[in-house]
Amino acid sequence: MLIDGHGRTVNYLRISVTERCNFRCQYCMPEKPFSWVPNENLLSFEELFSFVKVAIDEGIDKVRITGGEPLLREDLDSFVAMIHNHKPDIDLALTTNGYLLAECAERLKNAGLKRINVSIDTLKPHIAYRIAQKDVLHKVLEGVDAAQEAGLKVKVNMVPLKHINEDEIVDVMDYAKARGMTIRYIEYMENVHAHGELKGLTGKEILDHIRKRYRFKKLGREGSSPAFYYMTDEGYKFGIIDPHKHDFCESCNRIRLTAEGHLIPCLYFDEAMSIREAVKAGKIDEASEILREVLRNKPEKNRWGEDQGEESNRAFYQTGG
Ligand code: SAM
Ligand code: SF4
Repeated sequence: MLIDGHGRTVNYLRISVTERCNFRCQYCMPEKPFSWVPNENLLSFEELFSFVKVAIDEGIDKVRITGGEPLLREDLDSFVAMIHNHKPDIDLALTTNGYLLAECAERLKNAGLKRINVSIDTLKPHIAYRIAQKDVLHKVLEGVDAAQEAGLKVKVNMVPLKHINEDEIVDVMDYAKARGMTIRYIEYMENVHAHGELKGLTGKEILDHIRKRYRFKKLGREGSSPAFYYMTDEGYKFGIIDPHKHDFCESCNRIRLTAEGHLIPCLYFDEAMSIREAVKAGKIDEASEILREVLRNKPEKNRWGEDQGEESNRAFYQTGG
């Protein structure tokens, strides 16, 4: 079992398999041109898996693959299969923008993927264009259909932004509800890479929009999920992820691994340690020791709004959100 320095059990590993992305979401990517980490700096799937295997053997039972856009990494299904074949009952999930999903949903499902979260911020093509800076909506929605047809369980993530998509909070919920998918609204998290003029809605403001159309009651958190759940009178469950409160930190069970091999103990914490050299040299015991050290130093709560004002230096496209 993996226990951190504050006595919390850590059983959830999020792996960002690439920082590259085919979208340029305003809340995630910088406006000015920038260069990606060269591909040769990325750990191969075999190298990533050599670490994931140890982490699973030591107590990780939930793995999420994310990015950047994880479906840009070729043969992702082979990585999914490695993890699934090592421990078939592992809770194996993926977060994606959905653009390439229609082409690979079935392959991913056959490889052992169980669940997918798709980011859908709008149902209007021109707003999707404005947020992602590309004409994306049609392919994203096609991807969701393909994932459901393949038998994958799908959840929707939406980041509500003032004057951009706030009028669609309930419409996106209705879209998800009609397809039997849970929606989770994520409060926009200010960060130095995002476009400066953006303003997100608070959890309370999101609930105010929903209240105009639905009556609902509070349910609470489920296990160590960062989402706080609610249920409408007709029995539809939705969640809000509100990182501006620190109240989910006490049950935080997660750790993050980037494509280059950085182990990050907390999304809002700039320190990280690298397992890269250890993994490349096949020194798995060393990588395992680094994992334990990162866990010993995992902060008690996120530093949001403490020493960085309201902005984080972490790039969501590097850490996977
Ligand atoms: N590209 C994939 C996607 O968009 O789903 C996976 C990576 S993305 C970084 C993971 C999640 O982080 C997405 O649901 C996205 O909406 C969310 N995200 C990115 N930047 C954010 C921000 N500044 N505030 C809140 N959520 C953010
Ligand atoms: Fe890409 Fe996801 Fe970031 Fe949008 S949120 S730019 S899809 S990594």
